Amino acid sequence: MLSIVLPAYNEAENIQPVYRDITESLTGHAGDREIIFVDDGSVDGTFSEVEKLSRQDPRVRGIRLSRNFGHQAALYAGLNEARGDQVIIMDADGQHPASMIPALLNKLSEGYDIVNTTRVETEGSGAVKKTSSRWFYRLFNALSDVKIEPSSADFRIMNRKALSAFLSIEEQDRFTRGIISWMGFRQAILEYRAPRRISGTSKYSFRKMRLFALDGITSFSSKPLRISAIIGIIVLVSGLLYMIYAVTMFFLGRTNPGWTSLLVTILILGGVQLLILGIIGEYLARIFHETKRRPHYFIQQRTGD
Ligand code: UDP
Ligand code: MG
Repeated sequence: MLSIVLPAYNEAENIQPVYRDITESLTGHAGDREIIFVDDGSVDGTFSEVEKLSRQDPRVRGIRLSRNFGHQAALYAGLNEARGDQVIIMDADGQHPASMIPALLNKLSEGYDIVNTTRVETEGSGAVKKTSSRWFYRLFNALSDVKIEPSSADFRIMNRKALSAFLSIEEQDRFTRGIISWMGFRQAILEYRAPRRISGTSKYSFRKMRLFALDGITSFSSKPLRISAIIGIIVLVSGLLYMIYAVTMFFLGRTNPGWTSLLVTILILGGVQLLILGIIGEYLARIFHETKRRPHYFIQQRTGD
């Protein structure tokens, strides 16, 4: 059986068209299938659209999370529900073309465990989003031991073996594409062209993108902590050199009021200390969050089962 998992946050207008695209692309597919929509706490009737579909087509199922837990948690919820031997994850806004599904299935059958995708182009995507995404992957790959293809998407197919491995990783701040890369197994990449979303606007607010980037980096790299220590050493050595200079000047009797140098030193030291404290704080917050071991999500309602 093939499972298709789609997280959806306020995508009411997109549920039907995306369902139709998937059905169309699978007309030649012999095996059984299920389509699982995960309503990530929508407020716009997304779930009633899913309910409508599940009444028409018994292969459609839906779960509604108890609030908005975010894209990555919704993916985890959907993958936990999937019963297929192969599982596809894709967006519910039409930006992950369903016409790619046969190609994903084919590639998987060549003996891969995971087939990932990268966007070669996104229609209607702003320059800010493109540039920030490019810089994020540069930074991520520079800092982390795990490598991620730039422009990679949460649009992929996995077999049961890879899915079980993925589900066994229980960390809270889930950065799916990093976890997948970290897991290993036999992986392949396919390219696709992302069209505009069918309706509505991006559900990744600036705040969500920032959290996503922070989760990614702090979950897969401790280099910022080490870089903090290196900055500390550089500042300390410079301070010592300056101290030698200052003491020498004192004994030579050439001390002057020194207001500027004092002010600059205090400002720079203060800034560096706060920055490093902030980095440590960020990791501490992750540890705090992780140790609470709360469930990743709650299910409020189900349909079509
Ligand atoms: N999404 C979600 N929860 C969220 C934000 C987004 O389930 O809190 C879903 C959204 O409905 C879509 C997918 O995640 O199916 C990708 O989001 P979006 O299309 O807004 O991101 P973009 O394509 O702009 O990067
Ligand atoms: Mg989208």
